[in-house]
Amino acid sequence: MIAESLATATTPTEIDFYRFFEDKLNPNQRALQADIRQWNHSVVLPKINAYWDKAEFPRELALRISDLGIVGGMLPPEYGGPGLDALSMGIVCYELAKGDGSIATFFGVHSGLAMGTIGLLASEDQKARWLPAMSRLEKIGAFGLTEPERGSAAVDVQTRARRDGAHYVLNGAKRWIGNAEIADILIIWARDEDGKFCGFVIEDPQQVEGIRFENMGGKIGKRAILNANIFLDDVRVPAENRLAYVNSFKDTAMVLGMGRYGVAWEAAGVAAAAFEYALEYAKQREQFGKPIASYQLIQQKLVEMATEVTLMHGLCFQMADLMAKGALNEGILSMAKYNNARKARYVTQLARETMGGVGLLVENHVARLMTDAEVIYTYEGTNEINMLLVGRSLTGINAIA
Ligand SMILES: Cc1cc2nc3c(=O)[nH]c(=O)nc-3n(C[C@H](O)[C@H](O)[C@H](O)COP(=O)(O)OP(=O)(O)OC[C@H]3O[C@@H](n4cnc5c(N)ncnc54)[C@H](O)[C@@H]3O)c2cc1C
Repeated sequence: MIAESLATATTPTEIDFYRFFEDKLNPNQRALQADIRQWNHSVVLPKINAYWDKAEFPRELALRISDLGIVGGMLPPEYGGPGLDALSMGIVCYELAKGDGSIATFFGVHSGLAMGTIGLLASEDQKARWLPAMSRLEKIGAFGLTEPERGSAAVDVQTRARRDGAHYVLNGAKRWIGNAEIADILIIWARDEDGKFCGFVIEDPQQVEGIRFENMGGKIGKRAILNANIFLDDVRVPAENRLAYVNSFKDTAMVLGMGRYGVAWEAAGVAAAAFEYALEYAKQREQFGKPIASYQLIQQKLVEMATEVTLMHGLCFQMADLMAKGALNEGILSMAKYNNARKARYVTQLARETMGGVGLLVENHVARLMTDAEVIYTYEGTNEINMLLVGRSLTGINAIA
């Protein structure tokens, strides 16, 4: 009963305390937001918790993202993308995350990291080969950077690419790779024999000799997206699948920076949803003959949550403005990711507390959002790494390595 009423709690309680959404969205952006909200309520929320509980990928739900016309994000129509503007891109990440973090990550990996890499760093021929089918979600993308021994230090990847005639031969291992086992287009980052950073597209990786995937079970957050270890043992990749415009790790970092834009919005979405569920619950739940929302200690939590979410909105909307002006930089992106991921963790915990015992039941959504916030805190650059990127931006001194 509680779950049902929370799952249908729609627009009246959507937090927009400083009217960022009300004042700044144009009619197209408003329509996009309404479509995704409607999609969350009709497609995602009724079914997602069962998938999350079983740690199964909700293929039937995730593939329906293509109905929303958002796959490919900011890529222009000539590459099959919808050509979203900066604010629309943020709204997509925010609203998907309000529905479910695993679905948001499925989208972020496929559309942002995999298609984004090809859109930014592939030749025209390569884009024409891979992007159209990806934009129709006929082919699913994955992004393989992290390794068992190189997480934050991904600049120093150990995977090696050796030229052999018309092919490269890849050897190494990857870890935590989202969508890997279902991917048709797998991007693998490596260094070549000259030590140069490089990226490869492996097509239909399940059919390629020498690749082995191993599902990483036992994850406590984002349980409905699958992550895998990948082992590469003399994997032959055609030389024409080497991404044309990767010259150094800085090129990969550009893709990661764009990822941080999306993840900052995603963190705000997760926090906003948790707050909304908690507010609704606090108004309904009675103890000692009164709604718990009438107690000062509960109001304090609600105010804390609403304030943090509103501050996140402020950073996100300003980031969107700066992106539209071409004025984003690494420090700005990392500060938003750093702040929002940290605060999403705090807000989702407060929401969980506000709901007492039922906050721990997956059926009420907040437990799922709370553990999803743990993942957001760590991926797309850990909180510490993003903090140090801001430090580098402020001081000009690199304290990371
Ligand atoms: C659910 C999930 C999905 C993911 N999906 C993908 C994916 O699709 N593709 C992909 O390539 N990767 C993916 N990742 C990997 C993710 O990017 C890494 O987990 C992240 O970069 C951190 O690496 P690590 O886990 O090895 O931690 P480590 O780098 O080992 O860090 C451990 C701790 O040490 C701290 N630390 C490390 N270096 C420093 C330093 N210089 N100064 C201060 N503190 C430091 C970190 O902040 C952290 O607290 C995913 C991760 C998760 C959890």
